[in-house]
Amino acid sequence: MQEKPVINDIVNGKPVFWVNEKKGTFKEEKDNVQISAEDIKDASDRWDRFAPWFELTFEDTKETNGIIEGPYTEVPTFKKDLEKRYGIDIAGNMYVKRDDLLPIAGTIKARGAIYEVLHHAEELAIEEGMISGFDDDYTKFASDEFKDFFSNYSVVVGTTGNLGISVGVAAAAFGFNSIVHMSADAKQWKKDFLRKNGAEVVEHQTDFTEAVNQGRQASESDPNSYFVDDEDSVYLYLGYTTAAQRLAKQLKDDGITLDEEHPLFLWLPCGVGGSPGGITFGAKHIFGDNVHAFFAEPTHVPSLLLGTLTEQYSGVHVGDFGIDGKTVMDGLAVPRTSQFVSEVMKHFFDGGYTITDDEANRDLTRLYDTEGIFLEPAATAGLSGPAYLFNTEEGRQYIKEKGLNMENATHIAWGTGGSMVPKEDRKVFYEAGVREDPKF
Ligand SMILES: *Cc1c(COP(=O)(O)O)cnc(C)c1O
Repeated sequence: MQEKPVINDIVNGKPVFWVNEKKGTFKEEKDNVQISAEDIKDASDRWDRFAPWFELTFEDTKETNGIIEGPYTEVPTFKKDLEKRYGIDIAGNMYVKRDDLLPIAGTIKARGAIYEVLHHAEELAIEEGMISGFDDDYTKFASDEFKDFFSNYSVVVGTTGNLGISVGVAAAAFGFNSIVHMSADAKQWKKDFLRKNGAEVVEHQTDFTEAVNQGRQASESDPNSYFVDDEDSVYLYLGYTTAAQRLAKQLKDDGITLDEEHPLFLWLPCGVGGSPGGITFGAKHIFGDNVHAFFAEPTHVPSLLLGTLTEQYSGVHVGDFGIDGKTVMDGLAVPRTSQFVSEVMKHFFDGGYTITDDEANRDLTRLYDTEGIFLEPAATAGLSGPAYLFNTEEGRQYIKEKGLNMENATHIAWGTGGSMVPKEDRKVFYEAGVREDPKF
């Protein structure tokens, strides 16, 4: 705390904007980690191989020919609202990447979690001779023969929500025994949705960590069972890396220039770190140092920031600092970061910031009022990023030091989910942001 005063602010729950000054340029850093462009290519090829299966299996992937992707939307009125609330000008154009509209799961988890299930299904099918190799016909995965085959195996996950939905639905679609362990506080609609889609939901009268532990134990005692481990999964991470090349293509097709004179800012909600980490890794491989990736965490759950600042990574829990880990941004309520992701990300991510629940609530309501877009609370964390960049000394310093031409900047706040949230829950979330708060 003496060495790094920002830790004091984080511990005191003060919103911060922090720049990762330790990392070098992309060129200097890219070979300092075990994963590379080849891994991104491998993940991308796997998604492509399974596209025919998706098209056959999930109606809502037909339009995109079996690719799980969604649009991005410009949000000029929301941007004006941000400027007014924070009393600043935000240079550059602002967009929201609509992972709330992703097929199958309606959250960013569709990129990582479903990928991990694909990887597992493919590996089993090859090991057991069900397919001859990567160039075999992948529509076979939709056949009864394959479903019978996969019914001998289980895929298990422990979660309060979005991860379980993606893993549970994808695993059930292959014919796996799809088992989702949930804690007592998990939402009823999520349990109902999973059961309707063929997954088994095991409810535990415990908290999240304990539910995950019990799920893991149950899975480990069965050799035909595969456990999706949110905390240390490399496959989740690799699934996310492909998002960047898809986005790059969308932006290019729309004539949006990104280069040294036209910086790209990604504002990414961060829980365990897999999704922002994977997207950043992919984006750096495309745009190098012209992409600036910042991770957004709740003031009550700054696990990646504290893990990185203390250089203890998953060795620290927010509770070690007396922080309670409670937030309305439930998808980000991960009190201990991923060791794998945080150790990779120290070489690539440009910094992070923390937002209060009040800000998240207000951003959720204002985005709906100004643009008609509903995001779930965790998904709003990226929205205030551009404001922080101009509103904080650290942010302004960052722009100055890098000599960035912000008039040409593209800001993308990653909207990580929301379309699955039922009406009644939406109303509660919306109303939380209506409450008058002089600060916003
Ligand atoms: C999981 C999740 C995130 C964060 O992803 P991590 O890989 O945990 O960092 C953000 N938003 C939503 C809606 C999520 O479900």
